[in-house]
Amino acid sequence: MAKVTLTPDSGFARELMDAGGESLKKCYQCATCAVACPMAPANHPYPRKEMVWASWGLKDKITADPDIWLCHNCGNCAELCPRGANPADVMAAARNLMYRDLCKPAKIGKLMSKRSGLPILFAIPALLWLIVWAIRAACVGSWFPRTADGRIVFGQIFYGDYTIDPIFMLTFFGAIYILYKGCSKLWNMFKNNDGKLLVIGPTKPWYWHLGMLLWEEIGSHKKFDTCTTGPKTGQPENSRKIGHMCTVWAFICLMVVTAVVAGGHWVGKVFPCISIATPMPTLFPVKILANFGAILLLVGLFLLTIRRKRQNPKYFSSSYQDWYLLGLIWCIALTGCFSQFFRLIDAVHCAYFIYYLHLVFVWMLFAYLPWSKLGHLVYRTAALLYVRMYGRG
Ligand code: SF4
Ligand code: SF4
Repeated sequence: MAKVTLTPDSGFARELMDAGGESLKKCYQCATCAVACPMAPANHPYPRKEMVWASWGLKDKITADPDIWLCHNCGNCAELCPRGANPADVMAAARNLMYRDLCKPAKIGKLMSKRSGLPILFAIPALLWLIVWAIRAACVGSWFPRTADGRIVFGQIFYGDYTIDPIFMLTFFGAIYILYKGCSKLWNMFKNNDGKLLVIGPTKPWYWHLGMLLWEEIGSHKKFDTCTTGPKTGQPENSRKIGHMCTVWAFICLMVVTAVVAGGHWVGKVFPCISIATPMPTLFPVKILANFGAILLLVGLFLLTIRRKRQNPKYFSSSYQDWYLLGLIWCIALTGCFSQFFRLIDAVHCAYFIYYLHLVFVWMLFAYLPWSKLGHLVYRTAALLYVRMYGRG
């Protein structure tokens, strides 16, 4: 018989409970949840084993377990648990600890894991963009400048070439690099986990699985149909799927707009015929796509927020990480819409100030992405890719 070495961490169960997995101690390991879960494959069920590992303080097992990233938080397991435990919350708590610990610098992970860290996280970009504002105001002679023909053009203060583009490029690629390091670490943890004994060997090439995954998880949100939520939330069956889809597609629209505008701007310096002047006219196609993305984002946020507010606390709970992400995206959407609104009605002070806040919030989204719940887009994709590559559906 193979020898298995277990390394309990006595403080880990307490950490999980503090991070949202309070119901951990109720579990008496009956395995009803593993049978009830519509997402768990028959050859590698969860979440019972995670409940066992968590109660025993087996940090190494939980943190190297791809299954903690696969839960869709449908609440079926909590509804059927005879002890009133909530395995989805325990796995969400494990993910919260991973957001905190996976990537370096660990200091940011610690700040991101608690409410008291928020003022510092906000103050960093607030100061950064205030310095940019002050320097540009000194250059143009006003904190709230207008063009010669009296228009409000944010680029006069937050000049694209020397401020927005380089700052966001550095931030974005820095976050991508940190995510890459985090994903590599996660992948190695999966590989070194004993769980690899339970898989049946590589199947198709990774790019085939990745393509299928991106379609199922992002393009169509097909998996949400397997994991319905209606009866327990009091919300329409598909409210979570629609909310998620609207939000994800809104981000895709806004990313396309950003790429087209930035590409038009920089490539346009060489080929002036494709350059795009900002602010764009309201009926310009790229502007229409931007406004469509903004409306989609507001609809998605509204649906997700209503659902989260109304969900039954017996089966679902919301952690600080859940509200941080939702709140931050609301701030981005509202400041984006209102900065445009104030610009159009010519309220110069409000327009510049709200746009400044918009830059602060967008920077927070990108810069802290590896330590936030948004990182699960990447970590979950890595986990799904791993389990599919080794023969699990
Ligand atoms: S969480 Fe509930 S259903 Fe799952 S093993 Fe524990 S007691 Fe059983
Ligand atoms: S919440 Fe749903 S998807 Fe997650 S473990 Fe429970 S039954 Fe499975």
